[in-house]
Amino acid sequence: MRIFFILAFAGLGGILVPLSLKAQGSNHTANPSYNDGPYIFYENGQVLARWTTKEGLQEKAIHAGQPLEIDAGTSASFDPSYLDVNDSFQASSKTAFNGVEHIAAVSDIHGQYDLLLDLLKAHRIIDESGNWAFGEGHLVVLGDIFDRGDEVTDLLWFVHNLEKQAEKANGQVHYLLGNHEIMALQGDLRYIHKKYRYTMARMGMPYNELFGENTYLGRWLRSKPVAISINKTAFVHAGFSEALLDQKLSFADMNQAFQEKIIGQLEDSIVADPILGLLYSEYGPVWYRGYFDEGFAKWQAQAILSKIRKKHIIVGHTSFSEIVSLFRNRIIGIDSSIKLGKKGEILLIDKNKFYRGTLDGERIRLK
Ligand code: CA
Repeated sequence: MRIFFILAFAGLGGILVPLSLKAQGSNHTANPSYNDGPYIFYENGQVLARWTTKEGLQEKAIHAGQPLEIDAGTSASFDPSYLDVNDSFQASSKTAFNGVEHIAAVSDIHGQYDLLLDLLKAHRIIDESGNWAFGEGHLVVLGDIFDRGDEVTDLLWFVHNLEKQAEKANGQVHYLLGNHEIMALQGDLRYIHKKYRYTMARMGMPYNELFGENTYLGRWLRSKPVAISINKTAFVHAGFSEALLDQKLSFADMNQAFQEKIIGQLEDSIVADPILGLLYSEYGPVWYRGYFDEGFAKWQAQAILSKIRKKHIIVGHTSFSEIVSLFRNRIIGIDSSIKLGKKGEILLIDKNKFYRGTLDGERIRLK
């Protein structure tokens, strides 16, 4: 069975591109029955889509001017009508978004695509078909889509598509980098699901090269920030330590450092630079856990908030069984252990009131 799509490319020259059917010979190594991909590569002036099925590695070149034809067997969330291979994915320098009435935030999804969909549907962020239903609202995906679970590729394409749907509705999806995005891009593969080791074998390359600079998803990921603010609330995967804020970096400085000077660079060269080393360390924005230390006091939270001139900080990274609030919502931890694949919560912010959104659609006010 094949599915046919027409691609509408928005890029320069409006080039229309199909995938010509040309399955590559199957790999005769271990043959688990799963599908993964596509991963899209820019190679020698060509655009190539590769994915794996139980028959082996599949590959099609994406050409200009024709409808896209692709085998069923790619990730269920991949929809070529959202693909724009001419997109250069320029990182946005905008870090502050104001006048947003409805905000939702979810974190540390770790390959649990089905659970994320259930949670988003329960709160009408998406409709029953999985399409954007949050209007002009902003959804923050606060890092750590990668690792642990086996639905990472599905999540990436889903978030990629949802970004475009939200934009059309004057809403927005903000996908922020977590430490597991950084690890995957840097080639630290300790936490990848074994499924992706099969993908690596099929593709003949390490996992991080599936997201390299010459790939579509890799370029997309490299345009993502580590810190933004919406209204009076800051969002960051792990937190801003006092040591980091002493450096007086703006959110734009932090984002640019990760995008341009950390991702894809050797660890030795990163840690040789004091600022980059700090950003990359346990006091950096994607690793810090200090807010949840027993001794962390309200005055420290207030000092941090006044340095960044915000009223609230939303973080993930440190896991709890539900969303937790510190010091009357000054700091809210939203890693509600979605990674375990059983349940989880979404933070909802309406007119500066904060709610835990549960999997059964209940909203519980945080105070
Ligand atoms: Ca994390």
